[in-house]
Amino acid sequence: MERRDFLKKAGIGAAVIATSTLGGPYVIASPKFQWKMVTTWPPKMPVLQDGAERLAKRIEELSEERLKIQVYAAGELVPAMGIFDAVSQGTVECGMGAAYYWAGKNPAFQWFSAVPFGLNAQGMAAWFHAGNGLKLWEEGYKAFNLIPRPAGSTGVQMGGWFNKKINSVEDFKGLKMRIPGLGGKVLAKLGTTVTLTPGGEIFTNLERGVIDATEWVGPLHDLRMGFHKVAKYYYYPGWHEPGTYAEFMFNKKAYESLPKDLQAIVDAACAEMEGWLLAQFESQNGQALEELVTKHNVQLLKFPDDVLKKLKEINQEVLEEEAKKDPLGIKVNEDFKKFQKLIGSWGAISEMAYYNQIAVGGIQSK
Ligand code: CA
Repeated sequence: MERRDFLKKAGIGAAVIATSTLGGPYVIASPKFQWKMVTTWPPKMPVLQDGAERLAKRIEELSEERLKIQVYAAGELVPAMGIFDAVSQGTVECGMGAAYYWAGKNPAFQWFSAVPFGLNAQGMAAWFHAGNGLKLWEEGYKAFNLIPRPAGSTGVQMGGWFNKKINSVEDFKGLKMRIPGLGGKVLAKLGTTVTLTPGGEIFTNLERGVIDATEWVGPLHDLRMGFHKVAKYYYYPGWHEPGTYAEFMFNKKAYESLPKDLQAIVDAACAEMEGWLLAQFESQNGQALEELVTKHNVQLLKFPDDVLKKLKEINQEVLEEEAKKDPLGIKVNEDFKKFQKLIGSWGAISEMAYYNQIAVGGIQSK
């Protein structure tokens, strides 16, 4: 490659080429890259915005500052729901969000973050890395000039905050609830008015009765939002988000403009974050739940079994309807179902049996 072409391809940053005066080999200092990352998270949001910043730091360390990434929270450079387009169009090089926010681009993308009654964190990781999950995700995002990387899971989320008890599915009728993704579509079928209120507005809307109920993430994040001050009942389990995955996304051209070793560093740092993220949720949710129940007297309630059964039935209809909206959706839904079936019985005799065995003491429903 001609030197001029090389410099042109390297594109960004100060590429320096030094020639040995002693007639030794050429020493070529690697090109440096300065990127921007935009996220869908509010500034300082624990674990998730932290995760974006940690990824940037790790890439900088591992690349010995050859790739630096400046991270911007939602609204600092791009609004939360504008990050997909910003990265797709190359306005910025990378982003962090969750694939179900982009259902409007392709309904199939919802499967890459959360499927109601679908796979948990372990199952999702298995589908991405040992099944066809990541391959299908890459196929879907390619049409938008994007490369996705799984950013880690929240684990099973909570079912949400309510001011009236949910005793039957009839109780969802007429309710105004903030709930995203496929789960929201399930409740819409039961007559719930579903909203996707941005994080920063949920508390006020719940307090003023603009919405009657909300889900958010899990105890750690819900405690910080202060929902216990404006809602009585905290329901579980998060049937609608059993192992929600966050995502990193990279502009395809920007990613491919990196030398191979930097691409490998980006991939390795993303994989490291995938483990880090789940560890944060797993280590901090229990303590936050205890605080909600013992200090703030939150009433912790489980959705009745027949409610969950009905939600599951409706969910099956929703999945088929949503999948049919795009050829990729059909492919993804079929693959997901097949994978869930494949690993299903193993979970029942491993994790489930084990949890049932050790589930004594700790916090009980009030
Ligand atoms: Ca949620």
